[in-house]
Amino acid sequence: MYCDLHMHSTASDGTDTPQDLPALAKAAGLSAFALTDHDTTEGLPACAEASEAVGITFVPGIEVSADPGPATDGQFDCRGTLHILGLFVRHDDEKLAVISERMAAARDERNPAIVERLRALGVAIEYAEVESLAAEQGTRIIGRPHIGQVLIDKGVVGDMAEAFRRFIGRGGPAYERRDRLHPQDAIDAIHHAGGLAVLAHPIQLGLRELSSDLYASYLRRFVASLREMGLDAIEVRHSDHTPAHTSLYQTVAEELGLLASGGSDYHGDRKPVELGSQAVPMAVLEAMQRERTQRSEQAVG
Ligand code: AMP
Ligand code: ZN
Ligand code: FE
Ligand code: FE
Repeated sequence: MYCDLHMHSTASDGTDTPQDLPALAKAAGLSAFALTDHDTTEGLPACAEASEAVGITFVPGIEVSADPGPATDGQFDCRGTLHILGLFVRHDDEKLAVISERMAAARDERNPAIVERLRALGVAIEYAEVESLAAEQGTRIIGRPHIGQVLIDKGVVGDMAEAFRRFIGRGGPAYERRDRLHPQDAIDAIHHAGGLAVLAHPIQLGLRELSSDLYASYLRRFVASLREMGLDAIEVRHSDHTPAHTSLYQTVAEELGLLASGGSDYHGDRKPVELGSQAVPMAVLEAMQRERTQRSEQAVG
């Protein structure tokens, strides 16, 4: 009995529609799954409906882009990616909607700048091509993978990994930063929507260059600072984690009294990651469901 608590649909940068995901999850042998699109809840209602038809437990989620900088204590600099998953969120929460709009606007500002950089590098690409790809898939949340897809379709690169490595990845010649949320705002909005806040793929925080002792101590401090802001759980199992990382993250979760989560971060054809590949036991989901139930009972009583 397994679940997968991290995946994307065409509502952000995945390639399967929210309607199609439940049947795919079931075919992969899963008992439950969460849809966690980047900065949007738009796919959730259709996915919930299709899950009911297929007969699989559905957890409505979101993956919010936050800025790791302000969460540090000034003693070290975290330059990586800070994504915070919200699990069990209400899709129509007004605070999440505000965040979603702000993140969409930040993307609409950054994405054309990336295309401008590509053009300056001699790549024949128009922003309209990116927009039309997104429109075909019905997404408001345009990400670098959509730009990467256009580069692949034009034959500029052979695959997505090459697009990120040569052009649009962090440190690449066409990379542009975008506005992200303070982690406190991300966590507050997720809580407002009735969800649990989960630190996604801690490996991507960008602390990995550090020696293993330093890494473990910086990671603990960083996660402790997020716990002060209300973080509920850490994504212990993820496709980017080695067994050694998984075991470190499990230990840190236990030490800090946080729950453990896990998921594949499936993106359909855009990443070489299979749905359900993390084999996350249902007990992981059940522990989070209990926490969530307790909390809503406290809120009522
Ligand atoms: P964005 O949200 O527009 O900044 O794009 C980030 C997304 O790009 C991530 O959520 C991943 O799905 C994808 N991504 C990031 N790095 C890579 C990479 N090296 N190869 C393929 N996809 C990537
Ligand atoms: Zn993504
Ligand atoms: Fe992520
Ligand atoms: Fe993700």
